[in-house]
Parts: sequence; structure tokens; C-alpha cells
Amino acid sequence: MQSFEYNALPGRVVFGRGTVANVKAEVEALGASQALVITTAQQESSGAVLLEKLGDCGAGIFAGAVMHTPVNVTEAALEFAADLGVDCLVAVGGGSTIGLAKAIALRTDLPQIAIPTTYAGSEATPILGQTEDGIKTTQRGMEILPETIIYDVELTLTLPVGLTVTSGLNAIAHSIEGLYARDSNPIISMIAEEGIRALVSALPRIVEEPSNVDARSDALYGSWGCGVTLGAVGMALHHKLCHVLGGTFDLPHSETHSVILPHAMAYNAAHAPEAMMRAARAIGDDNAPLGIWELSRSLGAPLTLEEIGMPADCIEQVVQLVLENPYWNPAPLEAQRLRTLLQNAYSGLPPNSA
Ligand code: NAD
Repeated sequence: MQSFEYNALPGRVVFGRGTVANVKAEVEALGASQALVITTAQQESSGAVLLEKLGDCGAGIFAGAVMHTPVNVTEAALEFAADLGVDCLVAVGGGSTIGLAKAIALRTDLPQIAIPTTYAGSEATPILGQTEDGIKTTQRGMEILPETIIYDVELTLTLPVGLTVTSGLNAIAHSIEGLYARDSNPIISMIAEEGIRALVSALPRIVEEPSNVDARSDALYGSWGCGVTLGAVGMALHHKLCHVLGGTFDLPHSETHSVILPHAMAYNAAHAPEAMMRAARAIGDDNAPLGIWELSRSLGAPLTLEEIGMPADCIEQVVQLVLENPYWNPAPLEAQRLRTLLQNAYSGLPPNSA
């Protein structure tokens, strides 16, 4: 066993079916009595149901969460929260909604309950990305980490199949990069591998039968492991590419992760043999990058950057942005290999480790 360091993150997790019924008790357990429910406009009705369950602990709903956590939305939510005199935040939704609760908590230190309805994993991380004047910055801090996570599989049954698949692949990407992280450790690698295994098994069953509660439950469980991995160890080339592509061309978040993942894995495969062995074991394919590419294809996920909106002539711009401000990565970052990776991802070729 090699030397390692491991920092455990605190947090309470309640996992199951119908678990949001206990939301009022969870607010009270945090010593709070006036909770602000946060949602997107699309999920306001889920917020209304939750507000009802909160009874006299429910202060109101802010249904203005949007992608990329713009600072002006956070400021509007802060004003709303101050007017209501809230002492707790309850976010129900995907990464965008949970991001808004984190942004408010960063500025107020209010306790948070995150109720995730996608597999993005933000609920388990002390990380916040926010945008101001079109620039996205990321920061870490313990006040950002939600105190309590309520996983309720019932709330994921409405997640459209396409988003289910890409969100699941987004989660798998956290675990893949966690397996070869510079600061990887045996505990997180176990959790990462288990997260991949659960999602790889669940996603095909959900595509076949979107209301399959067992499959949805396995996927949600897997996403927890992947989120824990994202919160615990550093990410590498895959996440860097997705941040550059998302930030520069406003490409959709989980779809970008889905397209890039097999290619970033192939880029790193020869430099991360132990991680690839574990990923292959979890995926059930000797060739982990190809296994993920084939899984994506069979699930109907997008396979090309072209179809999710990347302009054709911008590969060189992405290569330069990745090299300008690189993340640590197991394989050295080389312009020509990055060009090939992006070209393959642009046109949907199978991943290539050359
Ligand atoms: P999202 O939160 O933007 O949700 C996409 C859409 O799906 C929204 O309209 C939402 O209301 C809707 N939706 C969510 N769950 C649903 C459900 N069960 N049924 C019906 N509709 C539902 O998407 P996301 O992929 O979860 O989050 C992406 C954002 O989260 C990005 O901005 C990303 O940067 C951020 N993120 C942050 C972290 C972190 O650790 N800080 C981790 C992962 C993602």
C-alpha cells in the first residue's frame, strides 16, 4: 500500500423512497425553523410540495435558480431570504439549484439541506462555481458543503431519459477522474468504483423502463459515490476540457461530459493503468474507454461535439485554453494529442489512445 492522505468531509445522508416526508424533522435537527425552498422555475411545483411538507418551518420559495449560478441571481435570492428572515436553505433540484443554495450559504453561513433530483453530485462537494460578467470562477470552502443530503428516489422519476443518461455519465466522469487523481486514496477509490458500477448497471435499466424504481434507486446511490469522489479529490483533463468547452461555447453541461469522457479516458489510459483496471472492472469491459463509449452509444447519449453545438473551427482555441491554464493530469498535456482527442470527439469516432 502506498502512502496517502485522506480528509473526510462531514455530512448527514438520508437515502430512500419517500424520504422528503422527513424534511421538517431534518430542518429542526439543524436547529432551524424558517426554511427557504430553492428551485428552478421548471421545478417550482416540486418546491411547492416541499413547502407544504415543511409546515410551519417553511418560509417561502425562491424559484429562480439557473445554470452557472450567476451572481445577480444570488443577490436577488439573498434579498428575498433576508426579507423572510430565513435560517435554513432547502434546495430541491439539480446542480444549478444546489449551486444557488451553496452561493447563499457562502455569504450567510446558513445551513443547507440538498435534495438532488439529478446525478450531477454537487450536493456532496464543498465546491461552488459561479459566474459574474460572463466569467465563471470556482471556489472551495466548508460553508459551501451542504450539512444534510436527502436522496429521495421518487423525485428522480421525472428526470427525462436523455438527461438521466447524460447526468449519469457526468457522475461517472467524477469517479473515473477520482481513480487517477493526484491525491487519490484507497477509500475514495473504493467509493468511486462502486459509484461507476452502480450507474453502469442502472442506466440501461432506466432507459428500458424509466419508472423502474429499483434502477432509479441504484443510479441515485451511484451518483452519491461519484459526488463524494468529486468532493474529495482533484479532477484532471476531462473536467478541464468540459469547463473550457462549457464556458467558451456555452455547451450543455452533462452532454459535454458524456461526449468527452471516453476520449479523455483514452488519453490518460497508458498513464493510469491501476485506475483503468478498476474502471474496466466496474464497467464490465476490458477496455474502459471503449466500454464507456459503447455504453453511451447504446444508451442514446450524444457522441459528437458537433451535435451539442461546438463550432467546427474552434478546436485550436480549446487546445490553447487547456494548455494556458492546465489542471494536473496523469498523462502529459501535448497539443497534438489534444487536437486528435477533440477531433475524435467532434466527429464521434471511437476513443483513441494514440
Ligand atoms: P441542472 O440543475 O441545470 O438541471 C437541468 C434541468 O433539469 C433544470 O431545468 C432542472 O430544473 C431540471 N430537472 C432537474 N431534475 C429534474 C427532475 N428530476 N425532473 C424533471 N426536471 C428536472 O442540471 P445538472 O446537470 O444537475 O447541473 C448542472 C450544473 O451543476 C452546472 O452548472 C454545473 O457546473 C453544476 N455542478 C456543480 C458541481 C459542484 O460540485 N459544484 C457538481 C456538478 C455540477
